[in-house]
Parts: sequence; structure tokens; C-alpha cells
Amino acid sequence: MRSLRVLILGGSSEASTLARAIAGRPDLDATLSLAGRTASPLDLPIATRVGGFGGVAGLAAYLAAEQIAVLVDATHPFATQMSEHACLASQQTGVPLVRLTRGPWTPREGDRWHEVADMPAAAQALGSPPQRAFLTIGRLQLAAFAAARQHHYLVRTIDPIGADHGLRDFRLIEARGPFAVDEEEALMRTHRVTVLVTKNSGGAASADKLAAARRLGLPVILVRRPDEPGTAIHSVADALAAIDSHRTPPTPRGV
Ligand code: NAP
Repeated sequence: MRSLRVLILGGSSEASTLARAIAGRPDLDATLSLAGRTASPLDLPIATRVGGFGGVAGLAAYLAAEQIAVLVDATHPFATQMSEHACLASQQTGVPLVRLTRGPWTPREGDRWHEVADMPAAAQALGSPPQRAFLTIGRLQLAAFAAARQHHYLVRTIDPIGADHGLRDFRLIEARGPFAVDEEEALMRTHRVTVLVTKNSGGAASADKLAAARRLGLPVILVRRPDEPGTAIHSVADALAAIDSHRTPPTPRGV
């Protein structure tokens, strides 16, 4: 059987899990695509390419040149531009699109969540009195907090944050999760955190900070999920089934 060419748009834990599952499938020939934002991405057992495609047209050209049979959008739920490009390139080329994502977090008893639309609104929601805010929002939108100078920020990122964030009073922790709930609680206690700021990324891998905030009775400012195009699949098994459903049956002999 000819192996099916699959392109996975990655940068999320779902994409990594799917890549590992596909590595054991000789009937699937998959490439994982990364934007190149992380200096040391996880080592995964399938072919990897790094860097943007050059917009919708670039992605469509790549799909054609590489004879991709199924496109999987497994990007992070906040990577809205790439998801939109995937949708449009799929429509233009006719290459079927499978969207794999995780469901958002939902509040539990004891949670003190304040949902906001975007990062500037999160900075505003910190209010006037000085806070000790724990930012787990990645490094690209830190500048949204630059004007709220009365607060101390504990910033946790995977990669260095550079110099153009504009934060005045901050402490940086460079670390890659997952982090256990006890670890998160100890960190918040040690740094006397008064509020957690995060995106509603969903998924188990980074949920323990929310459990730690609940234990400590801390408020959480949560940036709401952007709308996602198309229908999403929430499990790797279902994504594999969807990929398989796009396999063209062999043409019977003599036809
Ligand atoms: P974005 O705003 O949706 O995309 C910006 C541009 O980056 C895209 O137009 C594309 O460039 C390129 N790009 C994005 N994902 C790509 C991929 N998987 N492969 C190749 N090119 C890609 O994305 P973002 O929010 O900056 O996120 C960048 C990457 O980090 C994504 O892969 C995402 O899964 C991951 N990530 C994002 C977040 C987040 O909070 N946004 C969190 C964790 C991980 P071209 O137009 O040139 O093709």
C-alpha cells in the first residue's frame, strides 16, 4: 500500500502526540511543521520542517509540491492566523483538512476566574493596587503589561524573552512544563503571587497552575479562546481515524 502523505501543522502537545502515534504507522508518511518560535523544540520521531510557508499561497504551493493528501491543523488554540491559512489553503487546493485541538478549561468549584477578551484587557484587569502577577502567557505579548508599571511580574517562558518587552519590575523563570500542582503551589507561595494571568489554552499538560491557584484561593485572569474555523477533533485517535478516512481506495483491476 502506498503511504499517505500527511502534513501536521504543529507547535502543540497534541501535534507531538499525533507525531509519535504516526511514527508507528508505516502506511502514513508525515511531516511535522513548526513555526520556529522555540529555540529547542522537542525531538520527535517524524520528519520535521521549520518556518512559515509565506501565507496562504505559500502553504497551498507546499501542499501541491509535496503531494500532501491530508493536512492536519494541530496548532495551539491561540495560533489563529495559521489555522485560518490552513482553512483557506485546504479550500483552494482541495486537500482535506483535519483540525485537532484541545477543549478549553472550564471553572470548578473554588475557582476565582475573571475571563477577558485579550492581553491588553488582562493587563487592565489587574487593576490599580500593586499586584504580584504570575504571567504564563508566553513571551510574545508581554509588552501588553509594560504600561501597568505598579505591578511586580513573575514571568515564566520556555525561551528567553529578549529586551523589548518594556516590563520594569519582573523576575523571569525559563522552564518547560509540565509542572506538578505541588510545584506550582510552592512557586506561587515562594514568590508571594497574588494573581495568575494565563490564556485559556486548555489541556492537561499546563492545567496544574490553575489547580494550585484554586488551592491558594488566588484569582485567575484568563484570556478567552479565539474562535476557531471549522469543526475540531479533540482526540489523537479520532484524528488518526479522520486521516485514514481520506485514503482513496485502490482502483479495482480492469477499471
Ligand atoms: P500564528 O499567529 O497563527 O501564525 C503566524 C505565522 O507563523 C503563520 O502565518 C505562519 O507563517 C507561521 N506559522 C505558525 N504556525 C506554524 C507552523 N506550525 N508551521 C509553519 N509555520 C507556522 O501563530 P503563533 O500564535 O505565532 O504561534 C506560532 C507557533 O507556536 C504555532 O505553531 C503554534 O502552534 C505555537 N504555539 C502558539 C502559542 C500561542 O499562544 N499562540 C502557544 C504555544 C505554541 P506563514 O504565513 O509564513 O506561513
